[in-house]
Amino acid sequence: MTADPSEASSGSPPARPDGTVVTRIAPSPTGDPHVGTGYVALFNWAWAKRNGGRFILRIEDTDRERSTPESEQQIHDALAWLGIPGDESPSSGGDFGPYRQSERGAIYTRHAEQLMAGGHAYRCFCTSERLQELRAFQKAAKRPTGYDGRCREIDAATSDARAATEPFVVRLKVDRAGETRFTDLLRGEIVIQNENVDDQVLIKSDGMPTYHMANVVDDHLMGVTIVMRAEEWIPSTPKHVMLYAAFGWECAVFAHVPLLRNADKSKISKRKNPTSLGWYREQGFLPEAMLNFFALQGWSIKADDEEFTLEEFVAQFDPKDISTGGPVFDMTKLDWLNGEKIRKLSREELADRIVEGGFAGDWTRAELVAVLPLFQDRLKRLSEFTALAAYLKHRPEPDLEGLANKTRKADPDALRGAVRKAADVLVELQGQGDEPREAALRIVAEEAGLKVGNLFMALRVAVTGTTASPPLLPSVDALGVEESVVRIRDVAERYVPAGG
Ligand code: GLU
Repeated sequence: MTADPSEASSGSPPARPDGTVVTRIAPSPTGDPHVGTGYVALFNWAWAKRNGGRFILRIEDTDRERSTPESEQQIHDALAWLGIPGDESPSSGGDFGPYRQSERGAIYTRHAEQLMAGGHAYRCFCTSERLQELRAFQKAAKRPTGYDGRCREIDAATSDARAATEPFVVRLKVDRAGETRFTDLLRGEIVIQNENVDDQVLIKSDGMPTYHMANVVDDHLMGVTIVMRAEEWIPSTPKHVMLYAAFGWECAVFAHVPLLRNADKSKISKRKNPTSLGWYREQGFLPEAMLNFFALQGWSIKADDEEFTLEEFVAQFDPKDISTGGPVFDMTKLDWLNGEKIRKLSREELADRIVEGGFAGDWTRAELVAVLPLFQDRLKRLSEFTALAAYLKHRPEPDLEGLANKTRKADPDALRGAVRKAADVLVELQGQGDEPREAALRIVAEEAGLKVGNLFMALRVAVTGTTASPPLLPSVDALGVEESVVRIRDVAERYVPAGG
């Protein structure tokens, strides 16, 4: 059944099947999609899935100057990448659209008229100069700033007549007496004295709605049952509750989730943490790691495990269990989680992710599948792969200084000799397993009076270029013995001890 929102008016509930849980994410398309959007989207998506409900992506683009189609597209792409797309959205459609606020202008106008007719809103003709003066005066007098209500009592006929020739905004007529209460699922009851709530502008002079107006009208008409959003919107909620009441609508449930924070507990900011979802994608974080990480920011799984799947999360998540303590965006933990998720993939899957993510450089998928066992345990981000594996494609400049530092206690001539010998052993034992080759290399070291570690370090630097690298013998196999011994003999010639 198609609900035509243009026909919806006060009190008429949207036509969703009874009991449908409807959640939403309502980003403004004004820049790179933010990690906070992914985080809040996950909770909303999961709650809808757990309940067999609907998750809406609504684009709040009423700020026409700052909104861009590119940003909207990036929001769609980011949610698709994370694997939590809207069930209803501007791109996938749905029965309760349009899902882009800029296409819903007539709906807001009609609803503003409805509020005015009911005495809950009024046209305000005050000029911006007057409002500035008022504000300056209030500040000088150390009084709270806000609209003084001058236009509240203009009668309907006068208001209509003036509207034909003068610019105006529409304001909510806040009942100054009394208080407004609402229950936040995570915080309990919140009570605000009405005298502290300004006569909020609902429709701007350009005819566009403000966030508050559009948000409430849409949440109602789209049948949203729970508004789960960042806690920075708590101060706006009393206005929203007043709007629901003015329309005679049943209020959605509110759950304000804690903001993501920098290590110093300030709200997450670009200066201290990358905030764009695109950055994480480009770094080679896996979407499942991002989701797991987001889930951990405000919630913990009953089993006390930090690593879990999206399915496990959905099966256990309940918004009332979100904790309100400010979660710190801990990049070390994200790197750890990403490594864990990388290790859960099969070699083929990991190769696919590297190729699809654009991290393969000049590696073919088949080559990747062959060498990934060397790197899968070490990768924290997919973007690290090409640098880590570069020694297999191109002869590296060996870190001779690093090697000298690591082999300070070894006799240089003995080490050179053993390295040469090791090259011969590798040729002789070509095609044999790791064990016999390792045993033979140990004997080479022992016969030269060297610690085994010193010889292996020299071989490792020779083959891979660095002192910290994937294991030696698998690297030799991946590289081929021929090339490996060329590198090993080269290091034997060039080895210079520390301080030598
Ligand atoms: N457009 C608002 C934002 O960008 C939506 C807030 C809400 O979810 O109500 O965050």
